[in-house]
Amino acid sequence: MHLSKILHLSFWAVLLIHSKIYAQQFEDIKRYKVNYSLATQSSEKLIATRSFVNNNVKYLLLVNPETLDTKVDLASNYSISSLQWPNVFVIFKNTAYVKSLTEAAAKAVQLQDAGIDHAIPKEAGITLTIDLCPSHKPLDRIIFQSVFDEFKKIEQPAPLAISVSGKWMLKHQDDLNWLKSLVDKKELDITWVNHSYNHEVNNLPLAENFLLAPGTNLDTEVLENEKLMLKNGLTPSVFFRFPGLVSDKSVVQKIETYGLIPIGSDAWLAKGQQPNEGSIVLIHGNGNEEVGVKDFIELLKSKQGDVKNKQWLLFDLRKGLEKSFE
Ligand SMILES: [Zn+2]
Repeated sequence: MHLSKILHLSFWAVLLIHSKIYAQQFEDIKRYKVNYSLATQSSEKLIATRSFVNNNVKYLLLVNPETLDTKVDLASNYSISSLQWPNVFVIFKNTAYVKSLTEAAAKAVQLQDAGIDHAIPKEAGITLTIDLCPSHKPLDRIIFQSVFDEFKKIEQPAPLAISVSGKWMLKHQDDLNWLKSLVDKKELDITWVNHSYNHEVNNLPLAENFLLAPGTNLDTEVLENEKLMLKNGLTPSVFFRFPGLVSDKSVVQKIETYGLIPIGSDAWLAKGQQPNEGSIVLIHGNGNEEVGVKDFIELLKSKQGDVKNKQWLLFDLRKGLEKSFE
C-alpha cells in the first residue's frame, strides 16, 4: 500500500478512537426543550426528557426509568411517541424513576434538605456527592485523589456524584478537564448532577434565598446549565441538587416537572452531621469548605481497613436508588 494511503487510514483510525473515548461535546445547541416522549429501540423503552438540535442533527436526552441512567443519542435511532408529564407517572409507576420522584415530592415541605437524602438501606458504605458552587478558588483535587487512592484496588472506577453549577464550569475549565480525564482513565465514574446555572445566594432569609430568591428564572437555572454541561461533554443525570439545599414545596414540584429528582443529604460533613450506612454524604469541592474536606479525608482514613475488606464501599447514586425501590 502506498505510504500516503497508510497515513490517511491511520489518521481516520485515530479520529475514530478519539471519538469513542471522549464524550461528545455539543457546541451548537439550538431548540433545547423539555419534551417528553416514549423512545423505543428494539426491546428497550426509554423516556426522552429533552430534545435539541446540534449542527442540524436532532438529539434526545434519554432516561432509563429502571436504572436511572441517562444518555444522549440521535433521535433517528428511536421510534417516538410523545407523552404528557403526568402520564409518565402513570405508565412508569413501578419504576425506580417514578418511585424516586414520588418519595422526593413527599419530603418537599421542609425548607432545607428536601428530596431524597438517603440511599441504599442496610448496606455498609455511603454515596458521595460533591458540590461545585461558584467559587474563585481552585478545585480541591485532594478529595478525588484520595478517593482514587483508597478505592483503586476495590472499586475501579470509584463512583461519586458531582453537582455542578454553570458559573463554576465557566471559571474552572482546567479543573473540569482534569475531572473528565479521571473518567477517561477509568479512575472515577462521575454522575453529573445539575446544581443550577447562577446558584444565586443573597443575605435574605432562606425562604427568599437561593432558588427561592425573587426573580429566579427556573428555565435559565435548569436548562441553561444542562446546555452548558452538554457543551462541556458532560451528560446530565436525572438528579438535581438545590443550591444551599434550600427549596419549598412549590419549587420541588416545579423541578420535578423538568423530570429531575431532587437529591438532599443526611450527612453534610461540614455541619457536623455524621454519616451512617447508606448516607448521601455532602462535601463541597470548590475550595470553600476546608472543614468538610478534612472531615472526609479523616472518614476515609478511619474506614481504611473496612474498605480493604469491602466492608465499606462507595455506592453509585443511581444504583443505590434502583436497589432501594426493588
Ligand atoms: Zn452549592
